[in-house]
Parts: sequence; structure tokens; C-alpha cells
Amino acid sequence: MSEFIFDIRGLEKSFGDHTVLKGIDLQVQKGEVISVIGSSGSGKSTLLRCLNLLEQPTGGEILFEGESVLNNKNLKLSEYRAKVGMVFQQFNLFNNMTALQNCVIGQRKVLKRSKQEAIEKALEYFDKVGMSEYMQAKPAQLSGGQKQRVAIARTLAMNPEVILFDEPTSALDPEMVGEVLAVMKELANSGMTMIVVTHEMGFAREVSSRVVFMDEGVICEDGTPEQIFLNPQKARTKEFLSSVLGV
Ligand code: ADP
Ligand code: MG
Repeated sequence: MSEFIFDIRGLEKSFGDHTVLKGIDLQVQKGEVISVIGSSGSGKSTLLRCLNLLEQPTGGEILFEGESVLNNKNLKLSEYRAKVGMVFQQFNLFNNMTALQNCVIGQRKVLKRSKQEAIEKALEYFDKVGMSEYMQAKPAQLSGGQKQRVAIARTLAMNPEVILFDEPTSALDPEMVGEVLAVMKELANSGMTMIVVTHEMGFAREVSSRVVFMDEGVICEDGTPEQIFLNPQKARTKEFLSSVLGV
């Protein structure tokens, strides 16, 4: 039995002759909160999408809780995606459904929960993200920050083992970034295992237990927030940090 939630070895992804991930090695332990930082185009989204099997890797191996994920005929994709939750920049809510229905449908279809149990779970997580008042609202009636909090509640209702966040605050108006980061910080403090692609350097520094800097399809540097932000070793890391921090 592996002690890791994810044990990623030599992961590669090419689109045609464009190799985007060039051998990613990453081990993720239960309870870790990993921020993934790096320039646009460095492969951060592709990495998360491979972990969630939204993309099929072209090389390497992903072990999830000790079991191989790639070419595993016994793997049920919908069940796997319940365990490996994903929160997207653009929310990906069903716009024709209420917030509540958005949080119930996956539980009913994938986890086969009764309607009553699914609603109870949804309400529990709506409370957690501060959205109880809005459960009957359609996404169009909600602000970006509210939509993202519904999306997080929906993911939580599936009882994930790990949640992948792909720039969850990048599509938000600045005044809404804080409310989403606050929910994520609370989740991190509750012990949830999280991999967060983010440009929010404050979050990366203060909330994560580990920071991974990606550059051109490889992990260039990996360490504690103190190591990466205060004492980066690689020239590329220093360059990136000075460009985003403006120092
Ligand atoms: P990041 O999230 O770090 O900005 P991405 O993982 O989105 O980077 O993209 C990395 C590279 O992969 C980019 O050059 C992008 O154009 C390319 N890429 C991503 N998805 C696809 C796709 N579906 N088809 C072709 N190229 C893609
Ligand atoms: Mg991206």
C-alpha cells in the first residue's frame, strides 16, 4: 500500500508533436496543500487535467492511493472523478439548474445517494461555503464568487479524497477573490488534500504546505513556501517570482 494520495512518475503529455509535460514526478501525501505556480503555458492545467483524466497522458504513470490509474480496466471514470474532485476557473456549473440541483445531480448519479440524503449533504456544504441562502438561485443570478463557492460545495458533496483547483479565482472580479480564498483556506485547515494552480502568491505562501514551480513542462523547483519564496535555488524560479511579485 502506498502512503501517497498521488504518486506521479515520469508523466508525459503531448498534443501532436508538441510535448507539454516532459516527465513530471510528484508525490502527494494526505493532507498536503500544494500550490502549483508558473508562467502561462508551462503545463499546469494539463497536469491537473491528466490527474483527473480529462486528458489521457502519453507517458509515465499515475498511482492514486497505490493503484495504477492509466490503462486500468477496473477504473470507473465517474467514481474516480468523485474521489479526485476538480474546481475550474470557469465554474462549469449547469446553467439551467439551480445551485442545489447542481450539487445533487452528481451525488445521485455517481454515488447513488437517495434524493433526501443528497439534498442533506448539499445543504451541509452550502452552509460551509456560506451559500445557504442561494440554493434555489440559478447560476446566472449569482456573482462569480458565489458561483465558485457553489462549485466548491458541489465538489465537497462528492466526498473527494483530493481536490484539484485550476486557477479558481482568475475569472473573478477582484472584490470576490477574497471570499473564495477564505473558503479554500478553511478547507486546507480542515485537512483536505489540495493541489491548487494559482497566481495568488499570498495564498501559495500562507496557506500551502508546499509550492511546486513548473517551467516548460517540468517541475523546476519544489519546496516549502519559505524555501521557494525566500530562498529559491533556480534562476528560472527567481526570474518568475520577481516578475509576479514585482521585486
Ligand atoms: P498553463 O495552465 O500552465 O497555462 P496549459 O497546460 O494550459 O498551461 O498549456 C500548456 C501548453 O499546452 C500550451 O502551449 C497549450 O497551448 C498546450 N495545450 C493545452 N491543451 C491543448 C490541447 N487540447 N491541444 C493542443 N495544445 C494544447
Ligand atoms: Mg492553465
